[in-house]
Amino acid sequence: MKVHEYQAKSLLASYGVPVPHGGVASSPTEASQLTRDLGRPAVVKVQVHAGGRGKAGGIVLVDTPQEAEQAAATLLGKPLVTAQTGPQGVPVGQVLVEEATGVARELYLALTVDRSSGGPVLIASESGGIEIEEVAAREPERIHREAIDPLIGFQPFQGRKLAYALHLEPELIRSAAQLMGNLYNLFIENDCSLVEINPLAVTTDGRLVALDAKISFDDDALFRHPELMELHDTGQEDPFESQASEHDISYVKLDGEMGCLVNGAGLAMATMDVIKSAGASPANFLDVGGGASEEKVTIAFGIMLSDPQVKRVLVNVFGGILRCDIAARGIVKACRDRGADMPILVRMLGTNVDEGKLVLSESGLNVTFADSLAEVAQKMGAASF
Ligand code: GDP
Ligand code: MN
Repeated sequence: MKVHEYQAKSLLASYGVPVPHGGVASSPTEASQLTRDLGRPAVVKVQVHAGGRGKAGGIVLVDTPQEAEQAAATLLGKPLVTAQTGPQGVPVGQVLVEEATGVARELYLALTVDRSSGGPVLIASESGGIEIEEVAAREPERIHREAIDPLIGFQPFQGRKLAYALHLEPELIRSAAQLMGNLYNLFIENDCSLVEINPLAVTTDGRLVALDAKISFDDDALFRHPELMELHDTGQEDPFESQASEHDISYVKLDGEMGCLVNGAGLAMATMDVIKSAGASPANFLDVGGGASEEKVTIAFGIMLSDPQVKRVLVNVFGGILRCDIAARGIVKACRDRGADMPILVRMLGTNVDEGKLVLSESGLNVTFADSLAEVAQKMGAASF
């Protein structure tokens, strides 16, 4: 689960990480009032679950309350399209109004989970303010990593090491290391999957301030944090994805034309590889789970079909706890409910496979069967199924 910048910053502040003073506004009048309260130049920042706002015009420096009011009036209520959103953009319901910070240097600092070291890793770079993927591609030597052993926890020397790598002024080394320690506590105590500060500013008066903040929480641990669940803004998500998560279905919208329904995450990944290697492009990742009911399959298939980009469908079911006949009935029901008649390529194996195939072949739907993944790839390449 992602949260807005203002929510991330308030959590950072509660862990002792310095952030600019400010507040959130949902109307131009509120934005003007907040700027008046700050009594100095301010930044008006759209609150959306996407980065790249600066380049997209979603961040405006203002000198007066009137200018803040104008900026908020322009930004609020219209979707913002950034390099990280789809072409339809994301809705803007709020702006963050903060005191403008005099910036001397922009650094990058993040904590995430590193699969190779099997624990949290701190990532720091002198090239802040731009996307870290860009730095990784162009100047990988400017990215510094420090793996943290989760049993020992963050050690101050690790913070000092990174602070030196960032060429921080001697008087900032200690506070930088302390800031990293605070970040680690926040990360662990709230079951985060990502805490990213980009940029972490060195201000013209020699302080470290988190100018931007992105936090993602591990969905599977949210039940331990009811107070965090309240921060959820579903309006920022893909409508298909939030519908799926309501039903405990794992669905990720992609931009291809081949819808796919699979049971099991590993099989779903392998299936997407097969689709790609056959020269097609997946419209989604969809894992109905190992023990789905007919109703759940119907809902999952329906969500996939409601994506207008889906032109063909691949079903790859390995019948174990989920019986093939149950999956087949769910698929047929979803297609009938929606009057869908697109070609469906089905690979089914396992419990009650014969009954499953019978249900599909008698359904009148445009179904082609394949017995192996190799046959799936071959039939998909032929485009005719
Ligand atoms: P993003 O584009 O969505 O990542 O939004 P950021 O909050 O990171 O802002 C983008 C850029 O705007 C930053 O890298 C800064 O260069 C600039 N910026 C944001 N807030 C301030 C501020 O208070 N003072 C100054 N000087 N620049 C700012
Ligand atoms: Mn940023």
